[in-house]
Amino acid sequence: MKPAPFEYAAPRELDEALDLLAEHGDDARVLAGGQSLVRMMNARQVSPSVVVDINRLRGLDSLGVTSDNGSSTLRLGATVRQRTSELSGEVARHAPLLAEAGAHVAHAPVRARGTVVGSVAFADPSAELPAALLALDGLVKVRSRAAERTVAADDFFTGPFRTSLAPDEMVVGIEVPVAAGRSGSAFVELTRRHGDLPVCGAAAVLGLGDDGRVAQARVALCGADQRPVRVTAVESAVVGADDPSAFTEAAARAGDGLEPIPSCHGSADFRRHLARVLTARALRTAFARATSPKETTDAR
Ligand SMILES: Cc1cc2nc3c(=O)[nH]c(=O)nc-3n(C[C@H](O)[C@H](O)[C@H](O)COP(=O)(O)OP(=O)(O)OC[C@H]3O[C@@H](n4cnc5c(N)ncnc54)[C@H](O)[C@@H]3O)c2cc1C
Repeated sequence: MKPAPFEYAAPRELDEALDLLAEHGDDARVLAGGQSLVRMMNARQVSPSVVVDINRLRGLDSLGVTSDNGSSTLRLGATVRQRTSELSGEVARHAPLLAEAGAHVAHAPVRARGTVVGSVAFADPSAELPAALLALDGLVKVRSRAAERTVAADDFFTGPFRTSLAPDEMVVGIEVPVAAGRSGSAFVELTRRHGDLPVCGAAAVLGLGDDGRVAQARVALCGADQRPVRVTAVESAVVGADDPSAFTEAAARAGDGLEPIPSCHGSADFRRHLARVLTARALRTAFARATSPKETTDAR
């Protein structure tokens, strides 16, 4: 299949891109890495009349850490490739979960074109990076011609392939707070084949207090609901734990209230089961990494 005819624009200034989105609204689509959009256009699942290529926009390819009043933030612009993030020393140091989750996306050639922000904006409920952003308490930076706003990842994903973006808005970047103190994170998933979208995946971030107990926990799932979701019942159940044996019991709550989208790769019940198993695994690995930073995998 070939796409329906469309106009192609490759502006160099953000304002030009925003003008095009304001002018064409729902008829326009942003083109980032093209790894999902081009396939959908070829299959005529979407037929925008205008494609706004953001790859030539100045300043959106930056990746770095900024500090303000003692807290640091990792920032990734809208055209930072998934592979760049995965291989970045700054991401590995300051948000290793993003690198670990990103390495599970597709295959290296897809990640070399696909952008981190494109995956977030696409909001596939099975995708790894939106769940990682949720677990990291990330922020989504949004611009339109009229305004700019910052949306917590918790509020950004609204349904399958749906976000709180308006048609005249684009995402210009994401931000992740850099963890201070003792912390550990992990991303685990089950796929049918290497490089496929996961049937289900779990991301966990744990912060430990001075007494070695879990002081903060954020756990997010992909492939387990209509959108990437946090499992707050599990988060509250693990706070105070000082031993990984507590995690299996806490993770038993991970399937509660979930409404997975069933497919030939996994029924809703199977995905709820995976949510429990993978959450326990992610928590154990995150805890092991927080207590002993050299720990990298969960052997159990
Ligand atoms: C063979 C193959 C295997 C894959 N496997 C996986 C996988 O295992 N896991 C996974 O998560 N993904 C997978 N993907 C999808 C891949 O990760 C894409 O890169 C990602 O979904 C979209 O990123 P992109 O930069 O290519 O966005 P594009 O394809 O350019 O855009 C995707 C959508 O997001 C919108 N968009 C993009 N950027 C912005 C922005 N800045 N502001 C507003 N809207 C924007 C576009 O308009 C479009 O609707 C796979 C893709 C392929 C081709």
